[in-house]
Amino acid sequence: MKKVIYLFLGLSLFSCRLDEEGASEKRGPLHIVATTGIIEDCLNHIVGDSAEVSAIMGPGTDPHTYKPTPADIELLDEADIIVANGLHLEGKMAEMLDQYAEEKPVLIIADGIDEKEIIKSADFADAKDPHIWFDTKIWMDGLWHIARELGKLDTSSKDYYMDNFEAYQKEVDEVDQWAKAHLDSIDHSGKVLVTSHDAFSYFGRRYNLEVKGIQGISTLSEVGLKEIADMVDFVVEKKIKSIFIETSTSDKTARSIIDGCKAKKYSVELAGPLYSDALGEPDSDGGNYLGMLKANVMAIVEGLK
Ligand SMILES: [Zn+2]
Repeated sequence: MKKVIYLFLGLSLFSCRLDEEGASEKRGPLHIVATTGIIEDCLNHIVGDSAEVSAIMGPGTDPHTYKPTPADIELLDEADIIVANGLHLEGKMAEMLDQYAEEKPVLIIADGIDEKEIIKSADFADAKDPHIWFDTKIWMDGLWHIARELGKLDTSSKDYYMDNFEAYQKEVDEVDQWAKAHLDSIDHSGKVLVTSHDAFSYFGRRYNLEVKGIQGISTLSEVGLKEIADMVDFVVEKKIKSIFIETSTSDKTARSIIDGCKAKKYSVELAGPLYSDALGEPDSDGGNYLGMLKANVMAIVEGLK
């Protein structure tokens, strides 16, 4: 039923774009609002010059705790289409997105991903890990779903969106192969990725890397002293060379682990920062999705080799 409503809304998007006299000679581009910068960048590859894409959450923003500002609400109000990650990544926006779905298409990337591919973890809301962009294969499944839905809403650009998607898929596949080759080169015994929060489980699954998050699923949770002590023991025992901080979360816990290791006369490096839930500044290495993946792979190889 929802799909039928969306289709109707999509068709009516065009009729809404009449000028004041009601003439329909020229319509402006569709305005799509993405929740995160990662989604914005990927959508830009798909829509090209057929639509305008903006994002609510800019560089370095933690989506788990983000609350929309009045300016964000204005942007969402003006959007023709909203695209979100889903799986409660946008924890504080879930209700608001449901409300917008009553009046305009709200497309969810996770809806295009096979349920069997979603990592289950009690640490997350609904027991589903939302960090799906770190498995390029399933992320592209999600983006394919969005490209197809956009083509239904904007039929005149349908083929253009799918062609763009396929071109982007090739670029993503190349980076994926490159990442696999580089991460395979790490000596297996030290191949454990210890990070600030549990953002990298999909990444670990895709590239055969053991992953330990210091902070439980969401960045909302407080890390207990016991967990820190356990992690110190783990790092010392496995002789892990580096633990990684992230751009969108605090490095406080990582630093307590380093201090804990020091007390046990084991020296572990602080590495990164890795891009986890947000892109870097536009002119930085991590300023786009593929750049962020590459920067992470290089930092991990450097820190663990
Ligand atoms: Zn996260």
